[in-house]
Amino acid sequence: MVRETILSPDDFIYPLFVTFGKGVKKPISSMPGCYQESVDEVVKTARHVYSLGIPGVILFGIPEHKDETGSSAFDPDGVVQLAIKAIKNAVPELLVITDVCMCEYTSHGHCGIVKDGEVLNDPTLELLQKESLSHAHAGADMVAPSDMMDGRVLAIRQALDSEGFSNIPIMSYAAKYSSAFYGPFRDAAESVPQFGDRRSYQMDPANRREALKEVHLILRRVQI
Ligand SMILES: [Zn+2]
Repeated sequence: MVRETILSPDDFIYPLFVTFGKGVKKPISSMPGCYQESVDEVVKTARHVYSLGIPGVILFGIPEHKDETGSSAFDPDGVVQLAIKAIKNAVPELLVITDVCMCEYTSHGHCGIVKDGEVLNDPTLELLQKESLSHAHAGADMVAPSDMMDGRVLAIRQALDSEGFSNIPIMSYAAKYSSAFYGPFRDAAESVPQFGDRRSYQMDPANRREALKEVHLILRRVQI
């Protein structure tokens, strides 16, 4: 009766990993009980998730084709775009959030454009804008940029507002550490970097102050 903190199914967001094909349900070895699923299977899981009282899902995409610029990320017929439509159609009350990042779609597995072995921040922002817009057009309820490029929340906000999506919220990973704890997610989303690591754009886990600075930076820029 006097407990201050209670966790219940409505506090959770269920991650879904959408892949191409039909009838595909591939176990993810580092995340027991989770699967890479094709759109038809993802819809079944989404129904089940909603029946358990979980109010939202977050979609990660495993595309059929990966390239240098991750162009499948903003393909209107991409796996995530198709899954958004199918889920909103089948379970309209379920909140559909989308992971916005390039690493699932790039051949090199980095979260942005790579030139001469370096990840470029500003050109990547344009891709994140395109990806967010394409998710919003497909019917996403919220976008969640997970890459940690500087300035992406503002860039995405401007892009969404310019096409009439000012009510679509952005769930920002304002402070994200370059951490081994993301290992299973990289497995699940097949987004392991093919060279180097993410330290040039994600934070050192030893930096506590920097994390709060990053959060303030985003709030100031977007002026919430
Ligand atoms: Zn990423």
